[in-house]
Amino acid sequence: MNKETLARKLSSGDCLPLFQMADAVRLRYCGNGVHLRAIVEFSNYCSKNCLYCGLRRDNKKIKRYRMSPAEIFGAARQAAQAGIKTVVLQSGEEKAGLGELFPLIGRIKKELGCAVTLSLGEKTAAEYRALKDAGADRYLLKFETSDEKLFRACKPDSDYSARFDCIETLVSLGFQTGTGNIVGLPGQTVRSLAGDILRLKELAPDMISVTPFISNPDTPFAGTPCGDLEMTLRVLALSRIETPDAHMPATTAIRTLHKEGAGKALACGANVIMPNFTPILYRPHYSIYPGKESIIGDPSVSIRDILKMLEKMGRKVAPGYGHGRRHHTDSPL
Ligand code: SAM
Ligand code: SF4
Repeated sequence: MNKETLARKLSSGDCLPLFQMADAVRLRYCGNGVHLRAIVEFSNYCSKNCLYCGLRRDNKKIKRYRMSPAEIFGAARQAAQAGIKTVVLQSGEEKAGLGELFPLIGRIKKELGCAVTLSLGEKTAAEYRALKDAGADRYLLKFETSDEKLFRACKPDSDYSARFDCIETLVSLGFQTGTGNIVGLPGQTVRSLAGDILRLKELAPDMISVTPFISNPDTPFAGTPCGDLEMTLRVLALSRIETPDAHMPATTAIRTLHKEGAGKALACGANVIMPNFTPILYRPHYSIYPGKESIIGDPSVSIRDILKMLEKMGRKVAPGYGHGRRHHTDSPL
């Protein structure tokens, strides 16, 4: 589809046929299974000042924390014991602290048999290489918006081209690479969202994350409206249709925006859920936005709820590691 067609499908027309088509594409390319990835939000320190995010360095209202390697390994072990085969380590964009991660990545892979996804923000090529050499399988770095003017307005201390260069570097280093956008950023237009979908198609990443913007009162975007659920689902569905074989999560933000958001996302293209294994003690402080769906709750309870929901939908937990579909192996790489 070209930009005009995408913009039209985003802004008008019955969404049901679109969602049904996306669901059929997901079934054809990814099957019926839903991959579970355990997210561990191990640090909320951040050197960046993205206007939409509660972890931005100028937000003095949050209590900063960094989990110790033993705590991170403990959370990963809990995920492995629950049968989850991927651990996602996420943090703010820290200037230092990578050193502690290198042995940890190896231990999670060797001792727990889990694949490791990282989401640590922009790093140098040498740092990305060191993380890959340490054994990391995947990396998630969203471009957030493909609209350069909007990007500069929302991420004043990031460089638009540098962000895309990082994505390219990750791909060239052999990471299974994830990227994506935020839907509903203040000032974002339907054409700019259509541009995001085209950019995703061009990048053809292994994973795509489409999240609604959720307004945070402790950021410069306080008081702006949140992203719209239906628009987010339209972007998700069109991204699935245009980039059929990518893994796509029903994100925490969609689940936060609507209590049935996970089911809705899974019915229009998503095939991944990321239960939260961050220790309860730290979760309130990883406050990207308020009301985060997974702020409370024992992971075993949320997994039980996920299983119930999947059963109702006639879906099941996918076996194996859920590597990118172009990486033809089912062992930790
Ligand atoms: N610091 C790393 C980075 O920016 O790539 C990883 C952590 S960051 C908290 C993870 C994601 O949170 C970002 O890629 C962004 O899409 C999302 N995010 C941040 N603030 C948000 C908000 N207010 N609403 C929705 N998503 C948000
Ligand atoms: Fe930091 Fe990432 Fe939040 Fe930006 S989105 S402020 S880089 S944690």
